[in-house]
Amino acid sequence: MARYTGPRCKLCRREGEKLFLKGERCRVGNKCPFDRQQKPKAYPPGEHGLRRPKFSDYGVQLREKQKVRRVYGVLERQFRRYFAKAESLKGMTGENLLRILELRLDNSVYRLGFSTSRSQARQLVGHCHIMVNGRRVDIPSYIVKVGDVISVKEKSREHQAVTNAMELFSTGSTVPWLKREPNSFEGVVEHLPEREEIPGTLQEQLVVEFYSRV
Ligand code: SF4
Repeated sequence: MARYTGPRCKLCRREGEKLFLKGERCRVGNKCPFDRQQKPKAYPPGEHGLRRPKFSDYGVQLREKQKVRRVYGVLERQFRRYFAKAESLKGMTGENLLRILELRLDNSVYRLGFSTSRSQARQLVGHCHIMVNGRRVDIPSYIVKVGDVISVKEKSREHQAVTNAMELFSTGSTVPWLKREPNSFEGVVEHLPEREEIPGTLQEQLVVEFYSRV
C-alpha cells in the first residue's frame, strides 16, 4: 500500500491553493502558510518558487492532474488505473473519474466526518477501526456501493482522531450522497455522487485532456 510520505504543505504550495491535506491543522489557528498574514507566506517550493510561473496548456493540464491526485492521496499508477476504468464506463470520463475517487472508502470516511483528513481516514481504515456492512474492511481503496453502511467500530469510538473529527463535523455528513445523523457513528451511501455534489475546485476536463495527449 504505497503512499506519499513527504511534506504535505509543499504539495499545496506547488498547486497554489489549500488542499486540506493535514486535517484540523488546515482549519484552525494560523499554521497554514496560506492563512499567514506575514512572511513566509505560501509560494511554490524550490529555488525558483518566487518567480511568476508561465504555464503552457500542457503545464496547466499537468498541474490539474497532479492536484486531483494529491487531493485524494493516490499515486500515479493507481490514478492511471482509475482513469482507464473511468474511460471504460458509460458517461463523461472526467465525472466517472471523480465518482470513483469519491467512492474510495478512505474518502467516504472523511466525507462522513469520521476523520479530519483523507490521510487520517486512510490510517483509520488501515488500522481496522472502520466497518462496512458490519464487517471489518482495512483497504483504503475499497470502493463503496449504494446502500453500504459505513461505521466506526464500537471499540474505536473513543479514538482521539474520531472524537476530534466528530466535534468538528458534529452536524453529520459533509456531502449529500452520504447520510449520517448528527453525532452518529454510522453512515449510509444514499446514491452515487453527482458532479455538483463533489465539493472543491477540481477541473476534471483538464485531467482528461492531459491523458488524451500522453
Ligand atoms: Fe495545505 Fe493544510 Fe498545509 Fe495549509 S496546513 S498548506 S491546507 S496541508
